[in-house]
Amino acid sequence: MERKNAWSKYTSKKDSKAVFDFAEGYRQFLSSCKTERECVRFFIADAEKKGFKNLDDIVAKNGKLKAGDKVYAVNKGKEMALFIIGSEDLQNGMNILGAHIDSPRMDLKQNPLYEDSDIALLDTHYYGGIKKYQWVTIPLALHGVMVKKTGEVIDVNIGEDAADPVFGISDLLIHLAADQMDKKGAKVVEGEDLNVIVGSIPGFDKEGKKEKDAVKANVLKLLKEKYDIEEEDFISAEIEVVPAGAARDFGFDRSMILGYGHDDRVCAYSSFMALVNHTKKLKKTACCLLVDKEEIGSVGATGMESRFFENTFAELYNCLGDYSELKLRRALTSCKVLSSDVSAALDPNYASAFEKNNAAYLGRGLVFNKYTGSRGKSGSNDASAEYVGEIRAIMDKDNVFWQTAELGKVDQGGGGTIAYIMGNYNMQVIDSGVAVLSMHAPCEIISKVDLYEALLGYEAFIKYA
Ligand SMILES: [Zn+2]
Repeated sequence: MERKNAWSKYTSKKDSKAVFDFAEGYRQFLSSCKTERECVRFFIADAEKKGFKNLDDIVAKNGKLKAGDKVYAVNKGKEMALFIIGSEDLQNGMNILGAHIDSPRMDLKQNPLYEDSDIALLDTHYYGGIKKYQWVTIPLALHGVMVKKTGEVIDVNIGEDAADPVFGISDLLIHLAADQMDKKGAKVVEGEDLNVIVGSIPGFDKEGKKEKDAVKANVLKLLKEKYDIEEEDFISAEIEVVPAGAARDFGFDRSMILGYGHDDRVCAYSSFMALVNHTKKLKKTACCLLVDKEEIGSVGATGMESRFFENTFAELYNCLGDYSELKLRRALTSCKVLSSDVSAALDPNYASAFEKNNAAYLGRGLVFNKYTGSRGKSGSNDASAEYVGEIRAIMDKDNVFWQTAELGKVDQGGGGTIAYIMGNYNMQVIDSGVAVLSMHAPCEIISKVDLYEALLGYEAFIKYA
């Protein structure tokens, strides 16, 4: 049972135009939104243009909502939920598109800046699952915020503009790497050695003498002049070290995109666009939920484990003038979810890690994973057969190209998603998403046609589920 390649739907230039146009918007989004905060800012701006109102403002004014209204809610600048109110009673549940907007990276430590051997460096702690050796010798940028004691928030974004400097982590030259090359992959570059080089000119005193840590002092002087940042401000900062530069079209046929953070912004962007560009009346309320902290276990205030979603849903219910605790519980139980996260595309260079009859293929459309997990499906949501049947029917109704997959061979590894946390509400949930090559590497690869089929699949789900 082989699934067809989705490009077969778009053989003429005219047919494929929509695929390439949508991908170009995504490529630009991916190039400029490299942190969860930057994604949320982009999504708020686009949603407001399309008529979405901030739910907090409506709640503050004791306002009411009705069918057809569009609202969004933001959690601490790093997580958001968007809703289009349907005509049916909310007790019948919502159709939810979920995805995450955090990506693997390196975060600066709280006391990061130091000098060693006349070089100034920033110490990091990596975030999410990475092969550490992939993050050396590539140009890196700094994105994030620094918060002063006054509460003033300074946005940091250095390394993206062509006129900006970039930063990076050195690697040992091959000529001296005899010991390093004998190490296991996990130890070739160790976490504590992911130190980002940021300067090398020392400051000198009047007599031309270099004092101790003068390179570090000079970097601090520059930071003070340019950004009004003091060393202590690093304590209340969230600076993410990410690959510098724009996402690029990939391949002679420009069929793919190479870029940082496809996991899981490819699903977040297509889910978001499916919702905000929806213009027809909906029976069921539709929701797009974009969460943070998935890469470290969905924990904390802005992760899927947080009460944010539940509380926001309660506020929404209340604005419909019909709130009760029991009704809210009924509504939660009745929700249907496409919990989207990227899938591993079968990689011909490493085919032995996959089981080819149950692998995702680049270009074969939106991927559904009945279950994820590892070592006997541990940590998986495992969608019910009935729900999978319903999803098949929904996708086929709009001729969406889709495929089913597992993450690699049994006992080869595995991974989890936010799906089981939505499942805890007793919702119907299935894992879905876009296939990726080089997942969790600084530059990942996706197919433009998979991105487009995901959009079509999400649109079909909001309409028919
Ligand atoms: Zn992911």
